[in-house]
Amino acid sequence: VFVSFEGGDGAGKSTQVRLLGEWLAARGREAVLTREPGGTELGRTLRDAVLHGEHVDARTEALLYATDRAHHVASLVRPALERGAVVVTDRYLDSSVAYQGTGRELGADEVERLSLWATGGLLPDVTVLLDLDPDVGRARLTGSPDRLESAGDDFHHRTRRAFLARAAADPARWLVLDATRPADELAHAVRERLAPLLDA
Ligand code: C5P
Repeated sequence: VFVSFEGGDGAGKSTQVRLLGEWLAARGREAVLTREPGGTELGRTLRDAVLHGEHVDARTEALLYATDRAHHVASLVRPALERGAVVVTDRYLDSSVAYQGTGRELGADEVERLSLWATGGLLPDVTVLLDLDPDVGRARLTGSPDRLESAGDDFHHRTRRAFLARAAADPARWLVLDATRPADELAHAVRERLAPLLDA
């Protein structure tokens, strides 16, 4: 079973990934918790380059995320799924469609094609969108902002709309949650959605 969490910065994705991992472990399931960008050693190098390195143009950025994702899927996600683990990732290809496709205006369809090529077509069974007003998300963040976190307001409002539109177009895969709800309520909603898949 493959689960991704999506949403803007400060929406609480990493907290929900952790809570889900704890719940899975308590049920005796192997849970592999990971992230994009940066779920592998190469990915951490790419993450550092794209978020803190030399400024790169939008296409280069999209290719770096796609490279991270291709290697992540080939070396970590697919092997884990094949041995029956539950893989939970903090961001996956929908982030690229929203950020590079819509936010950077490279085109959602093109970036989706690139991402599907990079992953050999692997889509999550469930994608949880922690939906949050970007202004609220920013206020929740602590520490120094990375390049994306300090991008303009329009960018973040565009990406939020892109996530919501993708979710609305594929309700069988997506679970949309209001990220202002308490973390334990959100975790409960995620568990309810996943329980039938885990028992199958
Ligand atoms: O969520 P995380 O902190 O890992 O994301 C790092 C930054 O990279 C965030 O500011 C996010 O908006 C951005 N990002 C992106 N495109 C992706 C994935 C992440 O612009 N495909």
